[in-house]
Amino acid sequence: STILVTGANGYIAAWIVRTLLDKGYIVKGTVRSEDKGKRLQEIFEKYGDKFKFVVVPDITKEGAFDDAVKDVDAIAHTASPVNFSAVDPQELIQPAVRGTESILRSALEVGSNVRRIIYTSSAAAVLRVDPEPRTFSEDDWNDLSVAEVERDGKDALPITKYRASKTLAERAAWKFFGENKDAIKWDLVVINPPFVFGPVTHDVPTLSALNLSAAQFYSIVVGHSDAGGKTPQELRSTGTSWIDVRDLAEAQALALQTESVANERVIVSAGAAVWQEWLDVANSLAPIYLPSHLDLPKGVPISKSDPQIIHQIQYNTSKAERLLGIKYRTKEATVQDTFADYEARGW
Ligand code: NDP
Repeated sequence: STILVTGANGYIAAWIVRTLLDKGYIVKGTVRSEDKGKRLQEIFEKYGDKFKFVVVPDITKEGAFDDAVKDVDAIAHTASPVNFSAVDPQELIQPAVRGTESILRSALEVGSNVRRIIYTSSAAAVLRVDPEPRTFSEDDWNDLSVAEVERDGKDALPITKYRASKTLAERAAWKFFGENKDAIKWDLVVINPPFVFGPVTHDVPTLSALNLSAAQFYSIVVGHSDAGGKTPQELRSTGTSWIDVRDLAEAQALALQTESVANERVIVSAGAAVWQEWLDVANSLAPIYLPSHLDLPKGVPISKSDPQIIHQIQYNTSKAERLLGIKYRTKEATVQDTFADYEARGW
């Protein structure tokens, strides 16, 4: 069957495309320009005409996806801005919300073969930052970031603007689904991943073109011996839950095939880690996998008898385990493959 993947040239989407192609699906990816599509075609050359692309220049336009959804059996919607540089929060919110509404409407009106839509939301739509450590579940919603953006507008923190865009977009997806339930012939599955790390498979011509989450990982764990400017104390107290990009792609493939996940919101997470834990893993593996960077930042290593480490934000992932049975990579496996990728790219 044929799966449509939106924003196919993105970090996560390109791994979804590759995973689906490896499983024998035909994949149609949407991109914003012909050029981006051609680069993807080169990247997925070995799959021949099993990979196709379609140019959707503006996802916020109603009907933008009408051509793209024809003849597809399922959709993985990932296209959404991920950056901390927006001044007006609407730069993030509009494409996130309208892009989501637009693809759902196209699927409803012209996607006669569509049976399932998987929307990549985020743990950003779930969490809230409290003084006390907390474990969140699918019952939690980050309406706080939305309220903060309404209050502070352009002055809201960049991460708050992003979190608000993801909360509003996921709310819009469920609202559309609820309002059109009787006419809809497909299921909606929402996947909420935390920070996504791991090697890249999309087009990244230079290190500076790396997407936000992979760039942050590089900058703190490898890139600058100052650990991205974080103090030893910050390395021990900040960080978040994470998932390897390939496990997230696999989760989406599983979500395509699993009946019981229909109309569910599902948090996927390999666990929580402060940055120092990544530094410790990196320093133990670097001599083997990243010999060009033996001057990695070290911070202050965590000893086994060190009870100081607190994971502020954790997730209850029992629903994902029960419904999808995901196996998560370890930090060691993710670092190892990420370093091998850096080495191959000369970073
Ligand atoms: P990338 O920046 O690598 O990819 C984003 C994709 O969305 C690109 O294809 C990009 O196209 C497209 N896009 C961005 N803005 C627009 C817009 N205004 N109109 C149309 N398309 C647009 O990010 P990721 O792969 O990391 O993120 C993909 C999805 O996963 C997003 O929905 C994100 O919120 C979500 N997510 C990511 C996490 C992470 O840690 N990486 C964690 C949780 C969720 P173009 O290249 O043309 O700009």
